[in-house]
Amino acid sequence: MTATVAFIGLGSNLAHPRRQIARAIAALARLPGCRLLRRSRNYVSAPVACTIAQPDFVNAVVAVATTRPPRSLLAALLAIERRQRRRRDPGGARNTPRTLDLDLLLYGGRRLRSARLTVPHPRMHGRAFVLRPLADVAPEAVIPGRGLARRFLRRLADQRIASTRTHALH
Ligand code: AMP
Repeated sequence: MTATVAFIGLGSNLAHPRRQIARAIAALARLPGCRLLRRSRNYVSAPVACTIAQPDFVNAVVAVATTRPPRSLLAALLAIERRQRRRRDPGGARNTPRTLDLDLLLYGGRRLRSARLTVPHPRMHGRAFVLRPLADVAPEAVIPGRGLARRFLRRLADQRIASTRTHALH
């Protein structure tokens, strides 16, 4: 089966965020049907569009080569979030503090839209904490339907983001 290159965004702002990110990347590398190609540096970013004060996030992006269909890959991401004790707010509030958030950003050149999965991730082009680490792993990444990802990054200079230490998981 031919593999598709997919990009996954990771974020954490609770319970040792760097360690959460390192654990999640290790879990992604072990996923059947997935091969880890590249990982970005870690970045620290200020929470975006949050109604309550909360700690800064640590963010990263990885590239994987996968033979899993998109829905199956998303299900695997949600399972990793659950294992790292992500609790979803039953009220559906967005942008709340979290131990781990995994987003399927890009799946090859595909565009998908269903109740449970939208690819490209519909908010990625407005988020420096996605686009900056994405530029590390794929400087020429294209967001299908929108164009070169790094072009959007230039418009987001007001979003605070800085590279930070990368936690090695032993
Ligand atoms: P959130 O709580 O913001 O992390 O949203 C997660 C939910 O968004 C999941 O239950 C998914 O079904 C849905 N979703 C839709 N598109 C995507 C995507 N590209 N990546 C991750 N989650 C997605």
